[in-house]
Amino acid sequence: HHDRKILVQLISFESRRQILVTHDVTQNEKMDTMRRDFIANASHELRTPLTVINGFLEHALSSEMNEETRQRQLHLMAEQGQRMQRLVADMLTLTRLESLVQPPSSDAVRIKPLLNRLVEEARALSGGKHSITLQVQDVDLKGNHDELESAFANLLSNAVRYTPDGGRIDVSWGMDDECASLAVADDGIGIAAEHLSRLTERFYRVDKTRSRATQGTGLGLAIVKHVLLRHRGRLEITSEYGKGSRFKVSFQRAQLALRQD
Ligand code: ADP
Repeated sequence: HHDRKILVQLISFESRRQILVTHDVTQNEKMDTMRRDFIANASHELRTPLTVINGFLEHALSSEMNEETRQRQLHLMAEQGQRMQRLVADMLTLTRLESLVQPPSSDAVRIKPLLNRLVEEARALSGGKHSITLQVQDVDLKGNHDELESAFANLLSNAVRYTPDGGRIDVSWGMDDECASLAVADDGIGIAAEHLSRLTERFYRVDKTRSRATQGTGLGLAIVKHVLLRHRGRLEITSEYGKGSRFKVSFQRAQLALRQD
């Protein structure tokens, strides 16, 4: 394998005995590169709102301004502050998920009430501008409630954010062949095929401007991916540019929690 990199270390204890140690560092190097990229991207993402805030502050300190201007600038600064807060929150969630070595607990998570609430929140986020339907079977999963909540919430908020006003979003949860699956389908802007395989990479966005304008951090689907890894779920994305997208998450039968009542 020419793409493997082996580190050879010569450790000499005594004059007549030598020990040769080899480490396969390919994986380590990949991790290092990923970590470096993450820090570089994160710094870049944080620098933009900081620059805006600092610019306004300097301006405010150095010149007189009328009340109307002051209000407008404070408002813009608050927006940028909130953006930084979302970024830091998603970065923390993601790094926390990655550092967990224990599998999630095998507690039963009640999915039906969870989805009922998340769909209400999606309707609030939409401000009544989309028609959002929910079809749900009472099937529970083993796992961590908060992790599953953040994964599902990300899929729902993406559907709202990438679907123009007047669009529809259909959410369904239930048994499907041998799996339990959640499908979130929208008739929004859709995604061209060449982007599909990269969507779960951190900070990967098809359209940075749209993602920012709709309060995206570029980390949502990376969070989804990590939660699914921990719950043995798989993500299937089907989409057509200009037509809409469908994000389907399936869990194996072994991941289902049997109802006690
Ligand atoms: P973001 O915070 O930018 O939404 P995500 O990781 O959640 O980040 O998603 C990555 C990218 O995938 C988005 O920037 C967007 O381009 C695309 N995307 C995600 N969900 C949808 C969807 N339902 N419809 C169209 N594009 C989507």
